[in-house]
Amino acid sequence: SKATRIAIIPGDGIGKEVMEEAIKVLGYIEEYDSTLQIEVKIFPWSSDYYLKHGQMMPDDALETLAQYNAILFGAIGDARVPDDVTVWELIMPIRKQFQQYVNFRPIKSLPGISSPLANGGDIDFVIFRENAEGEYSNSGGRIYNNQPQEMTIQNTVMTRIGIEKIVRAACDYAHKNHKTKITSSTKSNAIIHSMKFWDEHTKKTLAKTSPKLQLESIYIDALVAYFVERPQDFEVVVASNLFGDILSDLGSAIVGGLGLSPSANINPEREYPSMFEPVHGSAPDIAGKGIANPIAQIWSLALLFGHIGRPDVEELIVTAIEKVLREGIVKTADIGGRATTKEMGNAICEAIVAMKTSSAGSV
Ligand code: NAD
Ligand code: MN
Repeated sequence: SKATRIAIIPGDGIGKEVMEEAIKVLGYIEEYDSTLQIEVKIFPWSSDYYLKHGQMMPDDALETLAQYNAILFGAIGDARVPDDVTVWELIMPIRKQFQQYVNFRPIKSLPGISSPLANGGDIDFVIFRENAEGEYSNSGGRIYNNQPQEMTIQNTVMTRIGIEKIVRAACDYAHKNHKTKITSSTKSNAIIHSMKFWDEHTKKTLAKTSPKLQLESIYIDALVAYFVERPQDFEVVVASNLFGDILSDLGSAIVGGLGLSPSANINPEREYPSMFEPVHGSAPDIAGKGIANPIAQIWSLALLFGHIGRPDVEELIVTAIEKVLREGIVKTADIGGRATTKEMGNAICEAIVAMKTSSAGSV
């Protein structure tokens, strides 16, 4: 069979550091699984690339990426380049061009990791963030620059089809995973055009496709409080682009922090490659120190395997991560230890080797 082609974009800051560990894991997986044929190419598109070439990626970058089965992304962000440039010239074009309208972010308690919440036991839900439109739009502008009446308008773009698609994806997931409830985050009491439209089409889509699923609609300000007060109550949370972004950093924090949280930017129709990346950014405060937690990146690689039809490899990686966390010997600073990025990466690779050899032995 044909090899699976994975495009890798490490990016900036800790993106490059954690990606090295994900690549190491990939090497171990390949070595121990002869059924996997993987072809990897690393693309150096980043802020360094921008400073050299005046753009974050070459003109034909999207055509190049279109030839891959999946993209593994690190993180971007660098003090020498404005953040809106790094985001709008690299991540946004990929998400939008490849219609990765689902941003899937699992929020799950992990063994050996204590939640900062007093009641943070069994947390296990997922966020479906709309990833192609909404508040993250470049529609708008500013006028009267440098005058007292200086002003700006930033438009939110919501389409009926866009809302239907993200809600359908959330419902599909709910069915497949035997969930009973969808929570929709809203602010339709105050943002009366876009958010009322969101509510209306969320409700219609659910009624049409999944009448048995319970739909609860919660104002975003209350919802963030509930994430802290009763996070165990959620199963599948569907949110607009901005709300979903904020909810996922919070979700990440209540189960142990950004160093642990993966995400997937998915094109469910599979017309284009999907992209897998940690929720976190380039973490300039710790970049270059070799202490970032690579788990979010390695877990993102696991999600990639699930998406390309290898849930067994996804499970292998996640089980290895859980084993290392449960044992609690190797911990990076963000989760209360002193291990380096490399030590954590190595520990996960060793766990994979141990699982592979023990399963081979039992055959
Ligand atoms: P951030 O996620 O980079 O960092 C927030 C905090 O979490 C920092 O204290 C950081 O040290 C910590 N942290 C993050 N990942 C960690 C890890 N793996 N291990 C240990 N600690 C970790 O968010 P920020 O500080 O708001 O943004 C920094 C830069 O990243 C900005 O340029 C921003 O635009 C960019 N950013 C990029 C992405 C992306 O590439 N998709 C996402 C978010 C932010
Ligand atoms: Mn974010």
